[in-house]
Amino acid sequence: MSKPVPDSLRQPKCARCRKHPVLADYRPFCSKRCADADLGSWLNGAYAIAGGPAEDADDTPDTAKRRLDEED
Ligand SMILES: [Zn+2]
Repeated sequence: MSKPVPDSLRQPKCARCRKHPVLADYRPFCSKRCADADLGSWLNGAYAIAGGPAEDADDTPDTAKRRLDEED
């Protein structure tokens, strides 16, 4: 009646190292180490994009000009 559940389904492997079974506290990772490592790499990529040259392009001295006009 009841089919035997494959071990891979019962205990999913860590999404990062794919070696150790997932720990409930750190799903979908096996440990804090793997969770931190994955988050770290993700954040690094996000920061690299956010801190790109696009930010510098918007750094115009427009506000400084406005202030002088208002004071005048
Ligand atoms: Zn892992």
